[in-house]
Amino acid sequence: AAVKPAILQIGSLLPVLENWLDERYSVSRLDDAPDAKAFLAEQGGRFVGVATSALYGVSAEQIAAMPALKVISCFGVGVDKIDLPAARARGIAVGNTPDILNDCVADTAFALLLDIARATPEADRYVRTGLWAERGQNSFHLGRRVSGGRLGIVGLGRIGKTIARRALGFDMDIRYHTRRPVADATWPHEPSLVELARWADFLVVITAGGPGTLHLINAEVLDALGPRSFLINVSRGSVVDEPALVRALVERRIAGAGLDVFANEPFVPAELLALDNVVLLPHIASATEETRRAMAQRVIDNLDRFFADGTLITRVD
Ligand code: NDP
Repeated sequence: AAVKPAILQIGSLLPVLENWLDERYSVSRLDDAPDAKAFLAEQGGRFVGVATSALYGVSAEQIAAMPALKVISCFGVGVDKIDLPAARARGIAVGNTPDILNDCVADTAFALLLDIARATPEADRYVRTGLWAERGQNSFHLGRRVSGGRLGIVGLGRIGKTIARRALGFDMDIRYHTRRPVADATWPHEPSLVELARWADFLVVITAGGPGTLHLINAEVLDALGPRSFLINVSRGSVVDEPALVRALVERRIAGAGLDVFANEPFVPAELLALDNVVLLPHIASATEETRRAMAQRVIDNLDRFFADGTLITRVD
């Protein structure tokens, strides 16, 4: 039998994916090393492939410690934690899992939107803590109407378009902001993010992460959104100026926020935990059995294809 290619796994992956990797490859897990840096300095030369996730990525330092590295296969579509310039400079192929997760991430964006507008998590707490029986239904504050509302989408890529299609079913008025208008989109493009925020009842953020979108959602955008409107972020924590968001929420300068991602995961600003006008999720936008399994399959298929013919099914350019 042919020798199995040596793969370094960075971070923990879905158990089924770890099993599939073990069946096909000679896998070492960086998490198992007592000292990751020392391990890479000593063994890095062996690895031709890396399996990682959007949460962990691969740093330039790690890439430099693996001189034989040819391919990086990433679980997730966002590659902001992978040092792409370092990979590109070495001609290392990078694969990710686009499109497969569009539906579930869009569903989560809508779950957050409905939850924050209708205050369903807060209402659930109202029932559980006995307040319904004690105070009655009319003591629970009224929610805000979603159907027919104004939806501003920041980032109209694969997932943003899927969110827009969901919104059609809610008869929402849709506008979007990207750096360039999207050729095949029928919704109005808003070149000014501040103007989009001023117009919107709901501002859903679904751009890529990384330096190009760092703190795109700043205090000015939040003030334009205003005290009657909501922010939903399912992209990356880095896209939002988090201290500015916390201040806007605490001071009720925006109506509320539904957040799947944070600046310093898994840590969430303590002020947010005390607020009722936020819904907080632990970065689970794609986390369904169906989608996570399909993503795992793509991570394996990308590696298998690469070691068969040097190409990837879904390659990051
Ligand atoms: P795409 O590359 O298809 O779309 C990205 C969109 O962002 C494009 O419309 C792009 O338009 C826009 N964009 C990029 N930079 C800017 C900018 N500076 N200002 C305004 N718009 C910008 O990506 P996907 O839709 O597949 O995924 C989007 C992101 O969602 C991923 O990169 C990932 O970070 C995040 N994600 C989060 C998940 C979660 O678990 N919460 C799960 C999956 C993805 P243009 O270039 O014209 O500006």
